[in-house]
Amino acid sequence: MRSIAIDGPAGAGKSTIAKKVAQRLGFIYVDTGAMYRSMALYLIRNGIGSGEEEKIARACKQIHISIEYQGGEQQILLNGENVNAYIRTEEVSRMTSDVSRYAAVREQLVSLQRKLAEEKDVIMDGRDIGTCVLPGADAKIYLTASSGERARRRYQEQQQRGIPCSLEEIEKDIIARDEQDMNREVSPLRQAEDAVLVDTSYMGIDEVVEEILRIYQEKTA
Ligand code: C5P
Repeated sequence: MRSIAIDGPAGAGKSTIAKKVAQRLGFIYVDTGAMYRSMALYLIRNGIGSGEEEKIARACKQIHISIEYQGGEQQILLNGENVNAYIRTEEVSRMTSDVSRYAAVREQLVSLQRKLAEEKDVIMDGRDIGTCVLPGADAKIYLTASSGERARRRYQEQQQRGIPCSLEEIEKDIIARDEQDMNREVSPLRQAEDAVLVDTSYMGIDEVVEEILRIYQEKTA
């Protein structure tokens, strides 16, 4: 099976780009952030705080995450319920970063992600795909952009979804989330040694897609 790993900080454009590359190559796109977000949603709904590690580890045993595709879009199922519509709020983003540092949360999702990559050609995005989930990926990309640019993109995305937000708040949240994701003990966000850095601050979407296809072709030639 073929695989492409895309890692990088929040709002770098990973999902937009990965979806398009997946279409071009006939791969499936796996959004691993959505899996962590669904876990966080379950914890919020059940009144479990982000500091309650033991409770969280116990709760993980009650959580079953799976994915399916509708018109090419990944749908995330939390104990059978499609939760796509509930996982993109800033509250969920914060909780996700808070709880994704726990090994119990990660173990379960990493094994699901590896299983998906064994069954299908995948382009998978997240924080630890190149470093931990798929160390043997055919191509690894570290996608980034300045925090100002990433905040602006996330702001536009939230506006389009009709979610009220402020640009300043979003930039603050993004910086705090990156800081936490990069400095946690288990699987921190970092560029894999064999990953190619792509800075999208001044690149258009199509340009980034072409660049990734070029890197993939080069690596698999
Ligand atoms: O990519 P997205 O912004 O949806 O990810 C939400 C959060 O999930 C990240 O801030 C990070 O804490 C966590 N995450 C992770 N490992 C992944 C994907 C996401 O820890 N592979």
